[in-house]
Amino acid sequence: MRVYNTLTKQIEDFIPYDDKEVKMYTCGPTVYNYAHIGNLRTYIFEDVLEKTLNYIGYNVKRVMNITDVGHLSSDSDTGEDKMLKGAERENKTVYEIAEYYTNAFFKDTNKLNIKKPEIVEKASDHINQYIEIIEKLLEKNIAYISNGNVYFDISKTKDYYKLSGKNKDELLIGAREDVQEDIYKKNPADFVLWFTVSKFENQAMKWDSPWGVGYPGWHIECSGIAIKYLGEQLDIHCGGIDNIFPHHTNEIAQSECYLGDKWCKYWMHGEHLNDQTGKMSKSKGEFLTLSLLEKKGYNPLVYRLFCLQSHYRRQLVFSYEGMDIAKNTYNKLIGKIKLLKDNPEGEIQHDLASNFKIKFKKTIEDDLNTSSSLTVLYDVLKSELNNKTKLYLIEDFDKVLSLDLIEHKEIEISEEQKKYIMKKISERNEAKKNKNFELADKIRDELKQNGIIIKDTREGTEYNIIKEV
Ligand code: AMP
Ligand code: ZN
Repeated sequence: MRVYNTLTKQIEDFIPYDDKEVKMYTCGPTVYNYAHIGNLRTYIFEDVLEKTLNYIGYNVKRVMNITDVGHLSSDSDTGEDKMLKGAERENKTVYEIAEYYTNAFFKDTNKLNIKKPEIVEKASDHINQYIEIIEKLLEKNIAYISNGNVYFDISKTKDYYKLSGKNKDELLIGAREDVQEDIYKKNPADFVLWFTVSKFENQAMKWDSPWGVGYPGWHIECSGIAIKYLGEQLDIHCGGIDNIFPHHTNEIAQSECYLGDKWCKYWMHGEHLNDQTGKMSKSKGEFLTLSLLEKKGYNPLVYRLFCLQSHYRRQLVFSYEGMDIAKNTYNKLIGKIKLLKDNPEGEIQHDLASNFKIKFKKTIEDDLNTSSSLTVLYDVLKSELNNKTKLYLIEDFDKVLSLDLIEHKEIEISEEQKKYIMKKISERNEAKKNKNFELADKIRDELKQNGIIIKDTREGTEYNIIKEV
């Protein structure tokens, strides 16, 4: 397998420390709000990566953290604590917010057929681990205490900028938010390992430490959790590209200084999903969540397909037109596969099938070229293979694609429900004809409340049943 390594800025052969088991760490969500579909794009990429590794024969031990504490929007202590902001917004405790949005996150990932990592750990459950690392860094004189906080001194590391590939001046100019002049720091890019002086009066999550009551900085959680569960040698660490600096840069600095050795071999980053305005954000414009897409009548797996159609290292612009195309493609695929399932004739043609398997494997092994993998799938459907062989191959490819291609389930509705929907649609059409738009909207809303989304098209009114209502 070949993968692009952000650390070396090139595509490399993938050779894990242990040739049987790959150790993989993925930065988890900050659970102060719903994930947006941009975040979910990153988790789809990581899921494809894990399943590809399985497909080619590796066991994968994968760990993910849940950031429920200490994620500041900036590395200096002038930033905002997103968790605290979420709690204030919803008048709940930080713990309630964390629990609610962690569950919401896994509901979303489940709908996207993203496998839950084997080990999922909350940042707030590993305080002792962080304290141990910080103590060692202080002992080694790599960390220092200033104004009550413990800082990491980046001048003590060699190659601090090796992951981001930027130099110090560029970062100072380009990333004011992340790198701030601060009278208490020795270097502007120094970052906090432990906060004891907090500007947040009502900080709910705080713990005792050798440096006073406080809470950990954001970056230390991933180093702490990764080292605790995966040991001192990590094969792959991934996240979205915004994680490269400062988060992953700081993770490398503190982990390697703590361990006294090289830590992670491959750093893989997914490009962003952008909206039409450029950047996806939870605060501006329409907040694009998976449930919003469902409410608009898109099956979550249509979004998965939308992502798989492009390479994870390419920016992807979200649009409803793009989603409609993906929906069309998905429905056609499912329709064709249904015909095969209705008539699964023949014996599996293993010789011919293995050629397609080799082609498929080549595409995903090539830095997860999922759009080419989909082409191999379409080639199978177009081929002269018998139905049984086609189904066999589709099932095999779906181990990685995870689009429910074989076991696709329509949401079952009874004849009675169908009659009800058709009656409501015709009442609505009647109301529209009579220019009674108020009634038409009322009927649409009533259907929506019952989990039925309708859409007017040139061919008439279509309806979609959404999964969870
Ligand atoms: P957060 O919950 O903010 O910690 O982000 C969770 C994951 O989503 C991280 O790996 C981020 O790098 C990633 N991410 C954030 N914004 C986007 C985006 N617009 N597109 C893709 N991934 C993103
Ligand atoms: Zn992380």
